[in-house]
Amino acid sequence: MGKLYLVPTPIGNLEDITLRAIRILKEVDLILAEDTRTSGKLLQHFDIATQMHSHHMHNEHRSIANLISKLKAGATLALISDAGTPAISDPGFLLTRACLENDIAVECLPGPTAFVPALVNSGLPNDKFVFEGFLPVKKGRQTRLKLLAEETRTIIFYESPHKLLKTLANFVEYFGADRPISVSRELTKLYEETVRGTAAEVLNYYTEKPPKGEIVIVVGGKK
Ligand code: SAM
Repeated sequence: MGKLYLVPTPIGNLEDITLRAIRILKEVDLILAEDTRTSGKLLQHFDIATQMHSHHMHNEHRSIANLISKLKAGATLALISDAGTPAISDPGFLLTRACLENDIAVECLPGPTAFVPALVNSGLPNDKFVFEGFLPVKKGRQTRLKLLAEETRTIIFYESPHKLLKTLANFVEYFGADRPISVSRELTKLYEETVRGTAAEVLNYYTEKPPKGEIVIVVGGKK
């Protein structure tokens, strides 16, 4: 029996890869990457010559049976995504579950992911928190927001820059203008920034200074 490794990769700063991640990526038989061009640059940077296959949201369902056969035949595979930890708002869950159903060992290495530094940087309570990932764009969005308005733990969202203003306006409407919020942008990169304040203040800030780059929003729970 082979083994599946889930290997976190940097979310911006290449220095954030671990020594073990580099070794595993060099040792496995095959690397499954979300985007082989993006990951190709990373592998080149660290002199990793392992063969790569593409494994993304659109072929994930189709390729699982074939990957399980490879693993059963003894292959070791490493799954990486474009950035951060595979399976966290990225492909990986389906393959992990299929491996476990087939008694194939799975090991996830610890490493970069965007929500942990955003949560810790926010200064909001982190003894209990919920990770919501991306909010639904249309269907189900209102229902989710109404439900989350009652949540007492700190809530973490992933968001894209062009939807940030709409999402912050929704937070003012559903959670209240005074709800504490922290927006972390471009974590680990040159223009890293964290803006903290009430929902209304943070909405104001980004209305005047339209956001660019990658974003995590952390929202304090209901008092
Ligand atoms: N697997 C990744 C992880 O472990 O964090 C998440 C992948 S998800 C497709 C991409 C989202 O993660 C972005 O839209 C943004 O919300 C967040 N993200 C990724 N890198 C980030 C960064 N450097 N700064 C802030 N947010 C980031």
